[in-house]
Order: sequence, then C-alpha cells, then structure tokens
Amino acid sequence: MTHDLTVRAPAKINLHLGVGRVRDDGFHPLDTVYQALSIYDDLSVGSAAEVRLSISVADYIDRAGVPDGEDNLVSRAVAAMARHHGRELPVDLVLDKSIPLAGGMAGGSADAAAALLAVDRWHDLRTSDDALLALAAGLGSDVPFSLVGGTARGVGRGEVVVPVEDTGAWWWVAVPSTEGLSTPTVYRHFDTMRPDAPEVPASAEPLLEALASGEPVRLARALHNDLQEPAIDLRPELGDLIVRGEAEGALRGIVSGSGPTVVFLCDSADGATATGRALAGAGHDVVLTATGPVAGVHVVS
Ligand code: ATP
Repeated sequence: MTHDLTVRAPAKINLHLGVGRVRDDGFHPLDTVYQALSIYDDLSVGSAAEVRLSISVADYIDRAGVPDGEDNLVSRAVAAMARHHGRELPVDLVLDKSIPLAGGMAGGSADAAAALLAVDRWHDLRTSDDALLALAAGLGSDVPFSLVGGTARGVGRGEVVVPVEDTGAWWWVAVPSTEGLSTPTVYRHFDTMRPDAPEVPASAEPLLEALASGEPVRLARALHNDLQEPAIDLRPELGDLIVRGEAEGALRGIVSGSGPTVVFLCDSADGATATGRALAGAGHDVVLTATGPVAGVHVVS
C-alpha cells in the first residue's frame, strides 16, 4: 500500500532533569530542559476502513519489546483523537522505529505525538494547538514536548512545556543499551536512594544560562540528571561507559532521562564522529551520532 503522508518524530534527551520528592499522588515534581535530537521514528499514513498499525524497527531494536494493537501509544493517541472529535478516525499506520526502545529517549512519547499530528492532518481535523497539547499531556508527560521540539523547559510532571532560546548546534553521541530500563523502576530507586530529596526540584536556571552562552564546554559542565545516580546504581556499566566516552574525547557523558541510553556532548561534528568511532571500536555495537535541537514532530511528505 502506498502512504501519502509521513510524520517524523524526534528522540529527546534531558539536558537538565531536576527531580523533587515524590508527592502523595505518586508523581515527582520536575524541572527539566528537553532537547529534540536528530534520531527519528517515522509514522506513515494511508487510507483504511479501520485503524490499522504495522511496525518495523531498526536492527538494534528488539521488535518484541514494542507492543502491538491497542497497547501501542500510537493506537492510544488515535483513540484519544477519536474521542476528542467524537467520530471514528480510520487510518492505516506504518511505524518505523529508530529511537532506542525503553532507553530514556521517549520514543513511545514521540510516536504518540506523531500519531496525533498524522491523524489530524490525514482527516483534516484542524485540531487547535491547545487541544493537541492537552491530548498529548493526557497520553504521557513527555508527549507535549515531542510536539513542541527544539529545546524547551518542562515543569510540573514535565508536561507544561515552554520553548527556550537555543541558538547552538550541539553535537551528541548516543549509546543505547541492548537491555531497556523501565522508567518507573528508576524513579522507585530514586525514592529509595534519595528520601531527603527536596520538595522543589533542582532549578534548570544554571543550565539555561549555559545554553544561552552557546559554548559547548559551559553546557557540558551544566548538564544535570538526578536520575543518573539511581540508573547507574541499577546498571553500574553505565558509569563505566561514561568514563570511557569522556576518555575518548567527549566533553561530558550523561545518562539520558531514566536511561539506560548514555549521551555524550561533543565539541563539534568531527568530535562526535571521533568519539563515536572510538566507542564502536571499544565494543559498543550501536553508536548513534546526532545533532540538536531539531524540530518537534513534523510532516516530511
Ligand atoms: P521515557 O523516556 O518517556 O520514559 P523510554 O524512552 O524510556 O521512555 P520508550 O521507548 O518510550 O521508553 O518505551 C517505554 C515503553 O512504552 C516500552 O517498553 C513499551 O512497552 C511501551 N510502548 C508503547 N508504545 C510504544 C511505542 N510506540 N514505541 C515504544 N514503546 C512503546
């Protein structure tokens, strides 16, 4: 079947992830700065009599880890749009995944955002931006950012997203793990390790200042992730990987979100290529070079 419309969805990393003490409702207050990176999932749309979803994945992704049918965030996004508009929205969807799975790069959230945009365009629904953002927040805390893209500050549970100025063109190397790490597990471990965590999460202000300077060395110093310690405690090899990448020329390595993907900020495109090659040579089978910030979910054809 030919598909006439493709929506591209970027991976995200957190340049700053300040996590506050868990609230009574089970959520953690966040102060975070997201950046969208040039690692993408593509969602293609064609006509169908009902909602259909087929999935293909890059060779480094375990297809078995991606849920089919109604459990997939793409299907949940289509169902949310159908409820919002009070009508059925039949589509044939083909999801092609390259964002590492369960890797702290919000691939599922990106796919949900892509599905909202894809269905809106396909059925010419003209959903308002505010309604799209509200639907996105209902699907997951990282989904609104996937719509917005670029570099943005997220507060609340991360779902209240405000774009921030970022004129830099930053170069990254991302090293996924073969085995995922579940986000709730890492948060639970954070609660155990940091019972004294402040109610108000660590502010993103220092990171924003470093970002505005445009200097990679300053940005490297300001990167911050409160989930890094619990992620490394659960998976000590991530700490070794960070040390290795920094020894291979990266300015700074940091766990991406809840991990286990580790991202390295490099000083240039050449620097990223060199660090990526060195890590690949050191036995890391999958090493992705990326730039950021890039646009949020967008139509490519
Ligand atoms: P986050 O950083 O938002 O916590 P993540 O990058 O750690 O997410 P994802 O790849 O988004 O992890 O997947 C988390 C889980 O969501 C998967 O293990 C899978 O069970 C489920 N899931 C549902 N829909 C999708 C999808 N379209 N792609 C990937 N995972 C999906």
